[in-house]
Amino acid sequence: MARPLRVTAEPGRTRPVLIRPGLAVGGGTPVVIAGPCSVETPEQIRAAAQAVRRAGARMLRGGAFKPRTSPYSFQGLGEEGLRLLAQAGQLTGLPVVTEVMDPQEIDLVARYADLLQVGARNMQNFRLLTALGEIDKPVLLKRGPGATLEEWLNAAEYVASRGNERIILCERGIRTFETYTRYTLDLASAVAAKQLTHLPVIADPSHACGRRELVPAMALAALAAGLDGVMLEVHPDPARALSDGEQALTPVDLERFMAAAGLLSGTSAADSP
Ligand code: PEP
Ligand code: MN
Repeated sequence: MARPLRVTAEPGRTRPVLIRPGLAVGGGTPVVIAGPCSVETPEQIRAAAQAVRRAGARMLRGGAFKPRTSPYSFQGLGEEGLRLLAQAGQLTGLPVVTEVMDPQEIDLVARYADLLQVGARNMQNFRLLTALGEIDKPVLLKRGPGATLEEWLNAAEYVASRGNERIILCERGIRTFETYTRYTLDLASAVAAKQLTHLPVIADPSHACGRRELVPAMALAALAAGLDGVMLEVHPDPARALSDGEQALTPVDLERFMAAAGLLSGTSAADSP
C-alpha cells in the first residue's frame, strides 16, 4: 500500500471495539449478531429479538433502510423500523445494529442504533464513510462484493481518517463465477484483514451463502479461523420473510448453531412449546 494507514498501525493486534459497557467485539470472545434481514412488524422483530436473546447471541440486527436490488422490492420501514428495532433491543437488553445508506440519515439512525452498518453496496460511498468518521458511534463496514482487500481497508481508512476508529470489518461474500451460492465467503481475505489491521473482523455467512443450510457450517468455519464474530440472519418464520427468507435461520437453527459453537446459554427454544 502506498502510504501507511491508520487502520494498519498495529497489524494483527486486534483492538476491541466497545459497543456498550460489557460488550466489545474483538475482545477474545466471539460475538454473535443475529436477527432478521428487515424489521417487518412489531411482532416479528419482538419474536426475533426474544429468540436471539434466548439463544445467547449478544446483539440484534434488523434493517430499516434496505438497499434492495429491485426498486419494487420491500424497501424497509424507515424510521418506524428503527423505532421497533430499538424497542425490541430494549425489551431484550440487546444492543442493535442497522444499516445507514445516506449521510443525511446518520443522525437519525444513530439515535436508535448502537452500531451503524455500512452495507456492501455502499462500501465505497465516500461521502457516507467520511461522515461516519465524524460521529461517536462504532461502524460495521461490510466488504463490497466486488471489492479487493485493499479497497476494503481503504474504505475503513476513510472512516478512521476523520477520527472515528471504532470500526468493525465484515466479510459478507464476494462475487465469483459460482452461482449455486449467492456469493462466495472469502474467509482467507477476512483472516488477512485481521493480520493486516488492528480492526476486529466478523463474517456474515447468510448473505455470502444465500441458503440457510450452508450458514451454520460457514459460521463455524469463520469462528475456527479466528474471526471476532458472525452476523446471522434469523427470522421467526422464514417462509414469510419480506426479504432474504431463503437464507434466514429459524430460532431453533440458531440455538443449534450456538450449541455447536459452544456459545449456548439460557433456556432452549427447542424445548419450549
Ligand atoms: C444486510 O445485512 O441486510 C445487507 C443488505 O447486507 P449486504 O450489504 O452485505 O448485502
Ligand atoms: Mn439480508
